[in-house]
Amino acid sequence: MVMQDQSTCPKCGGDLKYYDSVPRLVRTKGRETTRVPIRRFRCAQCGAVHRELPELLFPYKQYEAEVVIGVLEGLITCETLGFEDFPCEMTMLRWLSQKAQLLLWRYP
Ligand SMILES: [Zn+2]
Repeated sequence: MVMQDQSTCPKCGGDLKYYDSVPRLVRTKGRETTRVPIRRFRCAQCGAVHRELPELLFPYKQYEAEVVIGVLEGLITCETLGFEDFPCEMTMLRWLSQKAQLLLWRYP
């Protein structure tokens, strides 16, 4: 996985070339899901394929970043209208336990 605008391979430092894009299902507010195209890049040197992490997503999270950040900042809880059990409390607690790590991804 590479960050947006990263143009070198994290494995070997080779040049990344656009490869293709694949749809990813993302959960947003109000129990909706949306398809977001994820661009994939291929390393010209070692051939590894890397997915680009778009700004609205966290790695390995199904929810859009806005929802995750809302939970991390305490703006969204189980009592927030529209978020009663979506994401469920367990998911929110897991995010909170990963808070430092998640914020590092967002604000390195
Ligand atoms: Zn490489």
